[in-house]
Amino acid sequence: MTGALLEVKELKKFFPINGGILGKKVGEVKAVDSVTFSVKRGETLGLVGESGCGKSTTGRMLMRLIEPTSGQVIFEGNDITKLSEKEIRKARKDMQMVFQDPFASLNPRQTVEKILEEPLIVHGIGNKEERQQKVKAMLEVVGLSSYHAKRYPHQFSGGQRQRIGIARALMTNPKLIIADEPVSALDVSIQSQVLNLMKDLQKEFQLTYLFIAHDLGVVKHISDRIGVMYLGRLVELTTSDQLYDMPMHPYTQALLSSIPIPDPDVKQERILLKGDLPSPSNPPLGCAFHTRCTSCMEICKSTRPEMVELEPGHFAACHLYPSAKQ
Ligand code: SF4
Repeated sequence: MTGALLEVKELKKFFPINGGILGKKVGEVKAVDSVTFSVKRGETLGLVGESGCGKSTTGRMLMRLIEPTSGQVIFEGNDITKLSEKEIRKARKDMQMVFQDPFASLNPRQTVEKILEEPLIVHGIGNKEERQQKVKAMLEVVGLSSYHAKRYPHQFSGGQRQRIGIARALMTNPKLIIADEPVSALDVSIQSQVLNLMKDLQKEFQLTYLFIAHDLGVVKHISDRIGVMYLGRLVELTTSDQLYDMPMHPYTQALLSSIPIPDPDVKQERILLKGDLPSPSNPPLGCAFHTRCTSCMEICKSTRPEMVELEPGHFAACHLYPSAKQ
């Protein structure tokens, strides 16, 4: 793993809230608020948090499927946020997405062949015969068969459909795959098959992954490093091993405590989060997690903790650690 393929700096997305009879802006939803991270070549960075924490919006901003409010997305040295519509379409050849619901993201009226051929046509790759050859080869790569090319999405199981979604993402030989909850809609038994496939493909095609999920249990085995998001901000970022062995942020600790341990001899103490996720249109002052944190102190209610490197490569934003205090 060498050098950063992707660098995200101070990325923000604020959605306006319009109200009144004149439809004027009356507030804003801070869906993503100053998120900074990088992904090395060949690495898998997991991005986790509850639904509504801004992880999917972050993923979509990297592809400019959602326009950022501000910040930088530097992919292979180019700032994606500065590219024209034409340039960004070209850049998407090297960065592709795999979506949560393969059924919704695959056109039900097109055969698998047409679906997989489309990215090649968009990017002007190959002639008809070469494209059809590539479709057949890619179906085999993702564990399907070349005869599946003539079938329609509804003729496949959920797991097979996600294999088609992955095949489509790989057609243009991308460098980065942004996988947004790619296994959340699948049965648990199928989840591990798709995760194993993604791991194998990463090695075979030297892929770099940003793997978005709400479940820390799912990202554990696939991620090299993991970032935990809460209400639009990163609250902890470290290697996968460090995060599971020594979580620093109380939110990460609570998320980890809810993953069942399949060993009856291990006593598990579950940290229950108080209350609901606050609204990103009206986030709590100070540490956004303070309304639910069992370790909350006075300073947490007024002063927002900054992300600080507590140990080499281990970052957290929490006043519990002296170096994180203002
Ligand atoms: Fe809890 Fe305070 Fe740390 Fe926030 S800063 S996570 S409220 S201890």
